[in-house]
Amino acid sequence: MKVDTQTGIVGLLIAQGLKKVYHVRSTSLNLPPVTIDHENGWGLPLLKHCFTEERYSQIHTAAVDPYYEPEDPGRMPTYNGATGELIKDIPLLRMYRVSRRRFRTFCAEGIDVQYGKSLNNISYSNDGKMVKANFEDNTSATGSLLVGADGTHSPTRHQIFINDKEKATAKLVPYNAINLHVCYGDVAKAQHVRQGHPIMYHGIHPKGYWQFIAIQDVPDPDKPETWVFQLQTTWKKTTEPDLADEDVASLEKHWKRAEGMGEPFKSANLWIPEGTKVSVNKMAYWVPEKWDTRGGRVILAGDAGHPMTFQRGQGLNHGIADAAYLIQLLKSVKEGNKAQDVAIEEYMNELVERAGEEVRTSIVNTDMLHDWGRFTNSPIFTAGGHASQTNKIALEAQRHKEELLKAEEESKS
Ligand SMILES: Cc1cc2nc3c(=O)[nH]c(=O)nc-3n(C[C@H](O)[C@H](O)[C@H](O)COP(=O)(O)OP(=O)(O)OC[C@H]3O[C@@H](n4cnc5c(N)ncnc54)[C@H](O)[C@@H]3O)c2cc1C
Repeated sequence: MKVDTQTGIVGLLIAQGLKKVYHVRSTSLNLPPVTIDHENGWGLPLLKHCFTEERYSQIHTAAVDPYYEPEDPGRMPTYNGATGELIKDIPLLRMYRVSRRRFRTFCAEGIDVQYGKSLNNISYSNDGKMVKANFEDNTSATGSLLVGADGTHSPTRHQIFINDKEKATAKLVPYNAINLHVCYGDVAKAQHVRQGHPIMYHGIHPKGYWQFIAIQDVPDPDKPETWVFQLQTTWKKTTEPDLADEDVASLEKHWKRAEGMGEPFKSANLWIPEGTKVSVNKMAYWVPEKWDTRGGRVILAGDAGHPMTFQRGQGLNHGIADAAYLIQLLKSVKEGNKAQDVAIEEYMNELVERAGEEVRTSIVNTDMLHDWGRFTNSPIFTAGGHASQTNKIALEAQRHKEELLKAEEESKS
């Protein structure tokens, strides 16, 4: 079997799930490289649909700190970004924060990844059964289902809405976002920066900054000088009206910004060594809407289907939910319990409802976190990292987990 996806983590998860359903030794897809980190909250139990039990039990090896046993339930401390005073521990589920690079490697095991394939266009057979991805290098791949898991600016989405470019295009939000990795190479500095929480914490600054610090890599838990951190700062463009776009990544300007932060944010940012690479994220969103699946032959998954702003940390969780639900539906198709066009229609309807709500919520959340007068009403502040009550996939997984725990307890007594 060949899987015609072009993808990051979500495509890989779907490929893994298909391997499980179809019992094949290898599936193939296209995959270029990137690095950032993610928290895996309510998505964690859903990964069982994608991996074998043995592989699922090894997920912690992709965590940013594989030596750290996550708290259950988790929490994310929220600080006043200007004074460093703790405002609230936001409730989270038990979660692993994974490094995107490491999680991709984990997910790619056993998948035949074909690098360097870029989608040019899609064609469909007249009999309503097959779909063909045509790549820019004049090669193509044909199958019964094309999974467009090709990220925020998804070429597959643009092909699906080929007659309406405006409809297909992800919209930018008016925020600046910088992201960087830093190893302080110093025991005391690393311990100071990690004091906010062993995994991640954030600060809300009264002047309109969102400040985020997370551990990124722990090669040796007893050697803080080796620890790598991820620092992010976001702010509304109007907060610094004189800042030219080409200066968003300026470290000098960021050091000045850091002067107004409270500890440990202030030192964490002032200690960034000169020459550190600062990445700029152009935050964009697309509210999913129903598309023509061409009789169940083309779908969107992950950021291709629901790119969202990241301060609520939900993008990958929804990508995992897409993969988990798709795998369950394709299993029914394989077992002859459902026709493919029906299964794919169900997949699309569920995605549009669940992830559409999250895309909207995340935009509101981003706006509120940058507004001192409103941040305590923001979705992350009020609902934490929990899945929404309309998220049937996550709630089902949670119920299943509770049932298992109850059965385990009963068998002990
Ligand atoms: C700063 C930041 C922090 C985040 N934090 C969190 C978090 O804490 N928790 C969370 O759940 N989510 C988080 N997210 C969101 C998360 O990163 C994404 O939702 C997730 O990685 C999306 O995975 P994906 O596989 O759908 O897309 P991607 O990882 O974008 O993969 C898409 C792939 O398609 C490829 N592609 C693109 N165009 C083509 C083409 N023409 N042909 C072939 N291939 C193509 C790309 O190269 C890429 O490899 C964060 C995002 C950002 C930016």
